[in-house]
Amino acid sequence: MRHMLSLPRRNPHLQATVDLSEQVATHGICVTSSDPDAWFPPEPSPRSQGASAKVIALRAQYEQIARELCGPCPVRAQCLELVLREEHHLSRSRISGIRGGKAPWQRYLMIYRRRRRASRNAARQARQSTARRSAMSSKAVV
Ligand code: SF4
Repeated sequence: MRHMLSLPRRNPHLQATVDLSEQVATHGICVTSSDPDAWFPPEPSPRSQGASAKVIALRAQYEQIARELCGPCPVRAQCLELVLREEHHLSRSRISGIRGGKAPWQRYLMIYRRRRRASRNAARQARQSTARRSAMSSKAVV
C-alpha cells in the first residue's frame, strides 16, 4: 500500500518574499554601510497633504538622495518589490525612510495603485462567478 505524505503545500508568494528578503539582506548596499542612518533622512512635512512649492522642492531633493543612495545597489528591484509587499497593509504614516530607491510617498502611491488593481480584480472575479452561477441555475431550471 502506498502512503501519501501530507506535507504542507508551499505558498509560492511567501517563498518568493523569503527569497527577495535573502537577496536584499545578502547584497544590499545599505546592509553593510557604515552610515545606515543615511537611508532615513528627515522627511519634508510628512503630515502635510498640501504641496507648496517649498514642499515640492524638498521632496524632489529627498527623491534625488534616494536615487543616489540606492542607484548602485545590485538588488534595487528586488528591494523595491520586497518593501512594497512588506508595507502593503500599512498606513502612510507608518511608511518611512528610503528603500528600493524610492521615498516613502512614492512607495505609498505604488502601494495604493496595487491595492486598487487588486480590489478591481476581486470585484471582476466576483461578478464573473455570480454570472456563472446564475447561468448554471437558469440551465438547471430549463
Ligand atoms: S535598494 Fe537601497 S534600501 Fe534597498 S537594499 Fe539596496 S541600498 Fe538598501
